[in-house]
Amino acid sequence: MPGYEIWGEEEQKEIQDVLDSSILMRYNFENLRNGHWKAKEFETEIARKLNVKHVQLTSSGTTALITAIRSLGIGAGDEIILPVFTFVASFEAILFTGAIPVFANVDETLALSPSAIKSAITPRTKAIMPVHMCGAMADMDPIMDIAKAYNLAVIEDACQAIGASYHGNYLGTIGDVGCYSFDFVKTVTAGEGGAVFTNDQNIYTFSDQFSDHGHDHIGHDRGAEQHPILGLNFRISELHAAVGLAQWRKLDVILNRQRLIKSKMKEILSQEKTIGFRKIPDPNGDNASFLSIFLENENLTRNMAKKWKENGIACAYWYDNNWHYIRKWQHFKKLKKEKWLYPEHRDLLPDYENQDFSASDSIISRTITFPISLKWTDEEVAAKSRQILEILQSHKVKI
Ligand SMILES: *Cc1c(COP(=O)(O)O)cnc(C)c1O
Repeated sequence: MPGYEIWGEEEQKEIQDVLDSSILMRYNFENLRNGHWKAKEFETEIARKLNVKHVQLTSSGTTALITAIRSLGIGAGDEIILPVFTFVASFEAILFTGAIPVFANVDETLALSPSAIKSAITPRTKAIMPVHMCGAMADMDPIMDIAKAYNLAVIEDACQAIGASYHGNYLGTIGDVGCYSFDFVKTVTAGEGGAVFTNDQNIYTFSDQFSDHGHDHIGHDRGAEQHPILGLNFRISELHAAVGLAQWRKLDVILNRQRLIKSKMKEILSQEKTIGFRKIPDPNGDNASFLSIFLENENLTRNMAKKWKENGIACAYWYDNNWHYIRKWQHFKKLKKEKWLYPEHRDLLPDYENQDFSASDSIISRTITFPISLKWTDEEVAAKSRQILEILQSHKVKI
């Protein structure tokens, strides 16, 4: 799963380059930096790999999402449709631009259901934000069709799907703008970091400026630069970029290993006919950082998650999780009373606590996700998979 599992000399060398000059800032200081431009180099390498024109690194995936939303001119009172199964950051990013997060159901892809998107569209809707959860993709063709038909922007949250693709295109490059996170537990890590990427020159120029207080980055004298827009400091540091750059070069190694492990696990788990598997619209594009399965009902699923964990098998039961699935989001209880939100903004927010997402409940309540570790040997993969199977089968005999 995470790149930190294969930390090595490569990361240390890139960091040392930066330390040798003492220039930890990604911009300017040309004469002092011994020719190192780790953030720029990292951006260039991402662009080349993803076959996308522009990449802007940021301080996190969250700040990448905020930058992407603002770069589309979306803000106060505009609605963005996102899935009920996500990470709280995608909700936060929308809210903190002044926009309105509007939830829609997921289907067995564990990502936005195209028909649910359609039902969620209102005259205020400006964008759809598919979130490619747990390494695999939303079904982008029907989503892009809806976006075209209703003239909506598409912001892809690909933070959990680094290196994953859909019919030959990397996730994040299919909509108007895509975002990655390089936080500590992601497929490629920089410690902290994120990226906004796009083929649209205007989105890129805005992102480049917005993430650095509006600096236009023209010329060599920071003091003489123009500031066409207001922005924030969402910059990545050279130290983080150095780590990310070394990690990025390991991406294919990471993906190959994860895919091999996942197919082996799937092969073994398929022996149990009551196990269902997440629907993956393009299996070849899965980054394979996780394996998600469906069991028969909520009770069995919750019990099995407990049993597997007790037996040392890492797994997530999202239905009871309070920052990935909407059902347990305590934040909603206070939202309508938050004083820092403008009253108009608060009033436009849906009554999140009382919306009906039973269609998603019936899927997520039966979902368990196993993280895939790069450290497992082939023997461990086989043994673990058999152990998962045996624990399930012995439990089922008892009930
Ligand atoms: C990690 C993550 C983010 C946010 O990234 P950070 O770098 O931690 O800010 C956003 N969306 C999803 C789906 C994520 O998993």
